[in-house]
Amino acid sequence: MSHKILILPGDGIGVEIMAEAEKVLDVLRGDFSLDIETIRGYLVGGAAIDASGNPLPEETLQQAKAADAVLLGAVGGPKWEGLPYAIRPERGLLGLRSELGLFANLRPAVLYPQLLSASTLRPEVVTGLDILIVRELTGGLYFGQPRGVRVLENGERQGFNTLVYSESEIERIGRVAFETARKRTKKVCSVDKANVLECTELWREVMNRVHQEYPDVALSHMYVDNAAMQLVRYPLQFDVMVTENMFGDILSDAAAMLTGSIGMLPSASLNAEGKGMYEPIHGSAPDIAGKDLANPIATILSVAMMLRYTLNAPELATRVEKAVGSVLDAGLRTRDIYTDKDRLVGTAAMGDAIVAALRHMNR
Ligand code: NAD
Repeated sequence: MSHKILILPGDGIGVEIMAEAEKVLDVLRGDFSLDIETIRGYLVGGAAIDASGNPLPEETLQQAKAADAVLLGAVGGPKWEGLPYAIRPERGLLGLRSELGLFANLRPAVLYPQLLSASTLRPEVVTGLDILIVRELTGGLYFGQPRGVRVLENGERQGFNTLVYSESEIERIGRVAFETARKRTKKVCSVDKANVLECTELWREVMNRVHQEYPDVALSHMYVDNAAMQLVRYPLQFDVMVTENMFGDILSDAAAMLTGSIGMLPSASLNAEGKGMYEPIHGSAPDIAGKDLANPIATILSVAMMLRYTLNAPELATRVEKAVGSVLDAGLRTRDIYTDKDRLVGTAAMGDAIVAALRHMNR
């Protein structure tokens, strides 16, 4: 049965990078017989606000619910920054995540050997880096109740948020981490602050319990402060890291920067049925939008993640990743990853080169 993929370019460079990802999807469908149907023409973010006043129009949400996967570019831009929070472009993204129940955020941080000099760390510290951070996305401090700012009896204001996780929430993200680790090197590091926070003491206990179902996977635990330090000291020790929402938010950005470029990194957000939303980790980059400067690789690698995690086509995912690798081998670079030894290309030329490399593999 044909898989339905909803294409949501969004704003800024979202439109340009999505055009390149669509070229890849067309080759996968045409040359590799991937049975997919792409659904286009629906809006999210600023573009949707301009058209209807709503960052997540009902028809977009319905299409997202009906699709097997959503491929998203990026949302936002200075034009919409003055709007109230409830109708900002980012609400479109958050709305999709919560409406689709996308509780598991997978963020790989892979250092391509061709881009070694782009990392801020020494080559011997990051060569071979390939980490996958599994971040819980719909619970924890960002969603816990009660929350707010209240006035105390002495008139002073007090801000408060609640770190809360139920056992079932920890179990399901734990399973995603262990299942994912089985497809990699079978190593999971669970990150918590169990020495101080009761909630993450429970996190550790439940992780240990779920681990009993995965005896072939090695589980270790680390406090979040140590994990932050180890990520920059000796990142090669990690494979899959699993953690709660806020710790994951912070650690995944730190891990991303080990690779040197925001334009290279994809992400997947999955729900309990394996349905996913796939998007680059960067934003809409208004400073370079419309100039053929954006790196489309993060979005193209998001297609590879979609092949692996929702479409169950890991061999095609590997081909897409190899096509990206071969184009980097050939020295082609968009401006964000360019050094004076390379050949500078624009967004569309980079997409065309990856498509050509992919086609070449099918000969
Ligand atoms: P950004 O990621 O858009 O840009 C940060 C810097 O990285 C900029 O200099 C930009 O030119 C560069 N950059 C980003 N992606 C690139 C790519 N593919 N190729 C080359 N260079 C790239 O972050 P920002 O500037 O903080 O935010 C801009 C807008 O994007 C804001 O409105 C923000 O809210 C939004 N945003 C959206 C998402 C999302 O849609 N998931 C994520 C982050 C930010």
